[in-house]
Formats: sequence, structure tokens, C-alpha cells
Amino acid sequence: MPHMWCPGCGIGVMLRACLRSFEELGYGNQDTVVVTGIGCTGKLDDYLVTHALHTTHGRALACATGIKAAKDDLHVVVFMGDGDSVTIGGNHFLHAARRNMDLTAIIINNFNFGMTGGQFSGTTFSGAITQTSAYGNPERQVDICALAEVAGANYVARSTPWHVDDLKTLIGEALGRKGFSVVEVLSPCPTHFGSNNKMKKGTEMLAWLQEKTVPVEAWRTMTPEARAGLFPIGRLVDRNEPDFNARYAEVGARATGN
Ligand code: SF4
Repeated sequence: MPHMWCPGCGIGVMLRACLRSFEELGYGNQDTVVVTGIGCTGKLDDYLVTHALHTTHGRALACATGIKAAKDDLHVVVFMGDGDSVTIGGNHFLHAARRNMDLTAIIINNFNFGMTGGQFSGTTFSGAITQTSAYGNPERQVDICALAEVAGANYVARSTPWHVDDLKTLIGEALGRKGFSVVEVLSPCPTHFGSNNKMKKGTEMLAWLQEKTVPVEAWRTMTPEARAGLFPIGRLVDRNEPDFNARYAEVGARATGN
């Protein structure tokens, strides 16, 4: 099928992994709602036949929270880029995790705002060259998975399109968990972030992502100095705290004496 993504972009690999998991878990078109924001990742609902809500920039999680609070029986899956999730939408990310909303957030982190020309975002590395940081990004980056963990998400994982089988497994686990589940997908954007940082081809960015990542089991044995500049990949958090709707139902039962 023709699509809008550039050659070498990681979004299509992530989407295929996700759709394979939908099929395995029996997610149907009528009981699944895909919620997107704005940007290259936000376009993916154009290619799906599930229910979909295409929202404004940074507000995908807020809208998904409303859907899940009203219709607990629906599978609600939120696709965001690093801008939607933790830059423009950072406040909603914090509160969706704190509430432990029963949502799955799949986040393509390509380290910049791709659709608008490659400006730096909240996950761009310090010193990286982008459209708006020609001499190096002066800011520090958000660690999406660490933020999800401390804010209270039940399930947190990270992978890349290079590790495609693991990526599919982790997405499947996230979809199957109750509560807020997050999969961060470190992803190539050769058109902007790669081009600006001497990696013009998607394959070069994939090789770079392979070098930048370490399985979480090995990560846990490394010193803080050895971890610098690397990302742990795999299942990072897996717990079973009650989700928002379960806690809200308890409150409702107390209020009505049932
Ligand atoms: Fe992918 Fe970057 Fe192209 Fe957007 S601009 S489709 S993120 S490669």
C-alpha cells in the first residue's frame, strides 16, 4: 500500500509489529480504538480500519483517557511520537501513568520533530544537531521509560526496529497488560535527525541504534559510567497495580453503599 513515510523510517516496522499482535490477541476492528496525535506517527490511523480518533498535538493521551473512562470494554491504543508523548503532551503522559489508565501507549522516539522539518524535541540528545540547534542542542533529554516508571505505569519496555522480533513480543505483552503500559520504540528518522547527524540512510541509523542499546539484563550489571549514552532495551517494568477504572469502581461502590 502506498504510504507517506520516508524510505528508512521506522514507523512502518513498528506498525507491522503492532498489527501482528492485534491479530494474535484478537483485537477486532469494532472493539479497538486507535488514538493518535500530530506528526509522522500521528498519520498511521489513515491506514487502519479500527475505530480511530485523530487528536490535536500532545492531546492523544487526554482523549484516550476519556474514551477508556467511559468505555472500559474497548481496547484503547495510543500511538505518539516523542513530541506528542513527552514534549507538547508531557503533562498528559505524567497523569496517564499516575492514574494507571488502562491504555497502551506506543511511542516512536526519533529524537526530533520529523514532520515539521527536524526541530529538537524533549528527547533530543544534548549536543545533537537539528534544524533548530545548528551548533548543538543545549537541553538535556527526557528518558521516556524512566519517567513512565516513576510516574506509576504498570508495564514499561523499550526496543527498536532493528530488534523487530523482540519489539513485536514487547508490544504484545504491553497490549495484554491491565493498567498503563508503555513501549518506547527508538526509531530512525534518516530524513532529518539522521541527515543532520551524519546518518543519511535508514540502515546507518539502524546500525547506530544497535550500538546505542544494551539488553536490560546486561545494563543492570553495568556501572553508571559505562551506561552513559546507552539505552537499556527489553522489559523494564512489569507490575500489577490496580488501574484507574478499578479504583474508581471501588469509590463508586462506597459512595452508593453497594
Ligand atoms: Fe519518518 Fe522522519 Fe520521514 Fe517522518 S520525516 S516519515 S519520522 S523519516
